[in-house]
Amino acid sequence: MSDLSPRIRAALQSIPSYKPGRPPAAREGVTSYKISSNENPYPPLPSVLQVVEDAATHLNRYPDMFATGLVNAIAAHLGVPAEHVATGTGSVGVLGQIVQATCGEGDEVVYAWRSFEAYPIVVGICGARAVQVPLTPDARHDLDAMAAAITDRTRLVLVCTPNNPTGPAVHADELEAFLDKVPSDVLVVIDEAYCEFVRDPKTADPLTAYRNRPNVAVLRTFSKAYGLAGLRVGYAVAHPDVADALRKTAVPFGVSGLAQEAAIASLKAERELLERVDALVAERDRVLAALRDQGWDVPDSQANFVWLALGDRTDEFAAACEEAGISVRPFSGDGARCTVAETEANDRLIEVCGRFRQGPTS
Ligand SMILES: *Cc1c(COP(=O)(O)O)cnc(C)c1O
Repeated sequence: MSDLSPRIRAALQSIPSYKPGRPPAAREGVTSYKISSNENPYPPLPSVLQVVEDAATHLNRYPDMFATGLVNAIAAHLGVPAEHVATGTGSVGVLGQIVQATCGEGDEVVYAWRSFEAYPIVVGICGARAVQVPLTPDARHDLDAMAAAITDRTRLVLVCTPNNPTGPAVHADELEAFLDKVPSDVLVVIDEAYCEFVRDPKTADPLTAYRNRPNVAVLRTFSKAYGLAGLRVGYAVAHPDVADALRKTAVPFGVSGLAQEAAIASLKAERELLERVDALVAERDRVLAALRDQGWDVPDSQANFVWLALGDRTDEFAAACEEAGISVRPFSGDGARCTVAETEANDRLIEVCGRFRQGPTS
């Protein structure tokens, strides 16, 4: 026996760990709200819960490995061929499948920064090199700079619209001009986790881009608008060679039967769920207006969160929120992402922001 430790790939050493949004600490006499993970504040619909309960009676069996019923439902819903739909354990799971399918050691993945914190992790796990392109001063993707960052090592480009954590969406004309510059052997993945919350008519429609271009894939999730974050189900819409590759890199039986059935039921209940999204969008616009009235310079969020570029005061702000019974998602030294949630939580956020602008809270 030697005393050497098991050898772990060197690539893992430089990977940041995912910091999940924390729930707020319990406080005597104060209802607290978790607004740190962009979750949907509404509980599952009774019709969806019923389907999950029924599906639970089959938990002794493996689920349908190819999620046939769900794939067909998504395909019908979007008007795309079923072969173009690949599911996974949340869209982060699907993104992992995409990186595995396209990138090896030393290959490059171009994406905007700051953007979704899962990107450096999934890219790093495969040993690929992250090429992070700074956002513009108004917290939008700099698509010209992203196009210029593509080299012959680039295998993948990630476009997050609306961008987590800053909020703005990519416009249709910008996306088209960008895609014209991307070589056809580089896959462009458009992460649309928040597409149901978009109201700006200038916003790009990634499904149109996918229809016109074999190197474009769209990522969507049931975690946000559909309120199924706890069940882990998302999907990609991609052309057959890409979609086939995603089925090969999927964790076998990764999407549970409960998740498949709940997602199908959620598509059926779409109208009811989208009414909730409308209510959240109205709340988002109310929060944005209130913060701007207070003098905050907030990016134009098309998602279910708002971004405060607090710089050095980020941690202080997060602590002030915590004190008020709301937990936001701080990115130290940069800013805080605050989920639009229950009306009471939003009111409290507006109140803390108002006080914070008026001076140090200590
Ligand atoms: C929340 C989020 C996802 C979705 O994650 P799931 O794995 O589907 O829960 C994907 N992309 C972005 C940018 C997100 O913010």
